[in-house]
Amino acid sequence: MRRANLPIEIGRGPELRCRGWRQEGILRMLENTLHNGEKPEELIIYGGSGRCARNWDCFHMIVDSLKALGDDETLLIQSGKPVGIMKTSPRAPRVLTANANLVGRWATWEHFRELEAKGLMMYGQYTAGTWCYIGTQGILQGTYETFAACAKKHFGGTLKGRIVLTAGLGGMGGAQPLAVKMAEGVCITVEIDPARVERRVKSGYCDVLAKSPEDAIVIARKAAKKGEALGIAVPGNAAEVHEKFLALGFQPDVLTDQTSAHDPLNGYIPAGYSLADALELRRRDPERYMKESFAGMVRQVKAMLAFMDKGAITFEYGNNIRLNAKDHGVARAFDFKGFVPLFIRPEFCKGRGPFRWVCLSGDPKDLEATDAAVLKEFPNDRLLKTWMDMAKVQVPIQGLPSRTCWLALGERDRMGQVFNSMLREGKLKGPVAMARDHLDSGSVAQPTRETEDMMDGSDAVADWPLLNALSNASVGADLVSIHQGGGGGMGASISAGMIVIADGTDEADDRIQRSLYNDPATGVIRHADAGYQIAKDAAAAAGLVMPMAGSQ
Ligand code: NAD
Repeated sequence: MRRANLPIEIGRGPELRCRGWRQEGILRMLENTLHNGEKPEELIIYGGSGRCARNWDCFHMIVDSLKALGDDETLLIQSGKPVGIMKTSPRAPRVLTANANLVGRWATWEHFRELEAKGLMMYGQYTAGTWCYIGTQGILQGTYETFAACAKKHFGGTLKGRIVLTAGLGGMGGAQPLAVKMAEGVCITVEIDPARVERRVKSGYCDVLAKSPEDAIVIARKAAKKGEALGIAVPGNAAEVHEKFLALGFQPDVLTDQTSAHDPLNGYIPAGYSLADALELRRRDPERYMKESFAGMVRQVKAMLAFMDKGAITFEYGNNIRLNAKDHGVARAFDFKGFVPLFIRPEFCKGRGPFRWVCLSGDPKDLEATDAAVLKEFPNDRLLKTWMDMAKVQVPIQGLPSRTCWLALGERDRMGQVFNSMLREGKLKGPVAMARDHLDSGSVAQPTRETEDMMDGSDAVADWPLLNALSNASVGADLVSIHQGGGGGMGASISAGMIVIADGTDEADDRIQRSLYNDPATGVIRHADAGYQIAKDAAAAAGLVMPMAGSQ
């Protein structure tokens, strides 16, 4: 087995190691994903055990394959392992990947772990296995959108003077304190792992480390009273600390959670154990660990319901904690809803979602130029401007300079073509890779999150993300992926990802225009078909042909 070879050097500058920019861009995206990962030595990027390659042999083989890949060839990746290079055509994707796809009845963690232990599968999460993870910024913007929408719906447009309680400071959860601050509120985040806390405080994503729950309450109330925005971390287990908060009579205004509860074995830490003891139990007795893990989630969800009953605006942030609690006896677990039906769906209906781009030159000046171009292109988008202004100051560059912002149908392809023109005109030092989260308008079926509570009851229909991936492949996006189990864990989701690269050529213009238009268009069609009027209007305005939309 070849070894880790860390730290991974990300390719930068004009030098090509591959036979073209499409392959080189994908390679840099893979390296950047790994560079930004939570545990790069284990190829783990985020979200419990979300990986970018199955093992180090596979990683090196992928790199070698990308370097050798021709302009009319396509590399096939099966759950993080390169399995073949096909002769295709210059208009085809350069990489096709499928991660953790198990046949429905077999899509359980138990079966997945057996296959993983045999070296046959890898968990790709969303952007880990699609090689477009850009660090915490990717989720920061989405988390900001969510808290901003919550503020708009419940608190007159601002979280000023409000306290948000949550847990988990991992790859994605680490964005919460800063996102709440951007919405002007105070955030208390419970986190069991001191290393994660330290990392978030050091990187500026969180401001203060409280000594205890009591200490956190004092700091939070003081800041809220003064209307100051503040991020506070509390060490401890969420189930235990939430119960303590209840016993102390503390009541948050808003409540959610981002512990990795989607994975009861390698993610969530059970109550009643120190981190070290929990890790030892996980290694020694995985079955017992899972039992303890579910028991912890039950305690945590019961505490969340108690806060909710006393008036906290409570929502699940897509980690499946409600389903796990319900399966283990909490009948009321679904009394609180997910963040998508509560706050995000109207945006999805317009094909609006998390567009992102990575400046492959590695030059921060390219990011400045592309940031400015986006603001110039959409001068009247107030939310976009607020986010971009804050991101430029608050979001440190992690790996290759990158940016994410929410754009709708018709906006992403427009922006992509602007980037391609900028390259052609010599206004950028190097190509730009564009991608998105799988959490998007048309690219995911996840009945406890993105597709929870669909108007026509089609929550679990996964034809849509598959059509999305096929559509992206048919127009030659550079990388197209299909994942199972991302976000919510095994059996909980089917999703699709994509990357398209602007290299300044006319062919790229064509790929960008078609893929970045059709990609969100599948989302508009999906929501129009489910009966949402906003989506029907957006589809009609865009002239999308839907012969039978909304009819059963
Ligand atoms: P991660 O594994 O990187 O981090 C999880 C963190 O939770 C870790 O730091 C861990 O120490 C901590 N933790 C685990 N159990 C705990 C407990 N009982 N008490 C306190 N802390 C505990 O995962 P992540 O990438 O940050 O994602 C977290 C979860 O949120 C995942 O389930 C993910 O799918 C979900 N999520 C969903 C969305 C979405 O829907 N878009 C967005 C963000 C996160």
